[in-house]
Amino acid sequence: MIYRWIISAVVIMMPIIGNAAGSHSHDTAHLRIAIDGNLLNVNVEMPLDPLIGFEHAPKNAQQKVAVKKMETTLREAKQLFKPNMEAACRLMEVHLDSIVLGDHPVSDQDDHKHAELEGEYAFQCDHPEKLNQLVVNLFDAFPRLKHIKAEAVTPKGQSAMTLTPRKRGVSLN
Ligand SMILES: [Zn+2]
Repeated sequence: MIYRWIISAVVIMMPIIGNAAGSHSHDTAHLRIAIDGNLLNVNVEMPLDPLIGFEHAPKNAQQKVAVKKMETTLREAKQLFKPNMEAACRLMEVHLDSIVLGDHPVSDQDDHKHAELEGEYAFQCDHPEKLNQLVVNLFDAFPRLKHIKAEAVTPKGQSAMTLTPRKRGVSLN
């Protein structure tokens, strides 16, 4: 009887675990890394809640300040994403997209119960063959983030891992 109970419990839990990838969870971000020639592209999707504390267009001065602060942090990305020094990568371009930024019409904004921010970071590397690690420091900027599900596509293959505040380096080997 005990065995049967354990098996049932495992079966019941599995869909919850399987569902985690791609879902909107307020402590989890998703990161995709791609190396193509001398370009290193980093794409990050984060729920807005751990970044600014709300997930709608800013409604008052305090919320506008929070959005501005987040935008500044995400644009000054040299501290957020650190390729290993030997690869000699320079950040060339940052693109941020979210309903709280720029020219999204207000009609877009109230239909969303949850909302996210997408960031695209393009690096150019003098020695892409020496790229072996990307350290992700989003946990320092946004302490409410606890997990980053990372996927990497490199000339050496594909890999996936979950980063945490204590394990924040993506291996690109
Ligand atoms: Zn949400």
